[in-house]
Amino acid sequence: MSYTELRIRLVNELVREGILRTPEIIDAFRKVPRELFVDESYRDLAYVDSPLPIGFGQTISAPHMIALMMEELRPARGDKVLEVGTGSGYQTALLAEVVKPEGHVYSIEIIPELAERAQRRIAEAGYSNYVTISVGDGSKGLSAHAPYNKIIVSAASPRIPEPLIQQLEPGGRMVIPVGPPHMQVLKVVIKEEDGMVRVRDSVACVFVPLRGKYGWRV
Ligand code: SAM
Repeated sequence: MSYTELRIRLVNELVREGILRTPEIIDAFRKVPRELFVDESYRDLAYVDSPLPIGFGQTISAPHMIALMMEELRPARGDKVLEVGTGSGYQTALLAEVVKPEGHVYSIEIIPELAERAQRRIAEAGYSNYVTISVGDGSKGLSAHAPYNKIIVSAASPRIPEPLIQQLEPGGRMVIPVGPPHMQVLKVVIKEEDGMVRVRDSVACVFVPLRGKYGWRV
């Protein structure tokens, strides 16, 4: 089977399971080639629904987990999105596919080598115009481009970092895994138009730790 056939088969499975529901997000999953974002030695596993190593002790998240987070985040065309934890850049590309052409994804990664690799892959996949990747501690957010319509954190945090709440626009949403290293809950944070913040628990999940000022000291 070709990568495209494997991709369509996986997307159909995620739709059948009810994990992928929104047409724009389904379309992004159909278009973005996950095989481009995994190391060559893992390409044959690109469409197995599982996390894969990307070096430096980090992983590209499993497709069903990225799908769940995207559905909870509800990105839309024109959104300005902050992604904390670029990793491979795969989720960055999915977000770019949904928000383009008017929207933009600002992604921040703490490991310079991963940020550089992700940047190359984003260019190869054709999303450079809609993505800006920077290197730094995303637990503090990225104030230079705030506020954001959506914020997505792809690493486990001990609590919801206050700067991220501040950098969320009224009417905005954030998804973030919160909890100790081996088991977290995906939290959905909704900032109402009047600035009031509501937090809802979504699913149990396991992510690598968020490092930095508002993360874990690892
Ligand atoms: N969604 C990503 C993908 O599609 O490949 C996977 C992200 S991976 C599970 C989590 C990433 O968060 C790692 O690359 C890690 O280096 C990064 N990270 C951890 N703490 C961070 C911080 N404080 N700021 C920015 N990135 C951080």
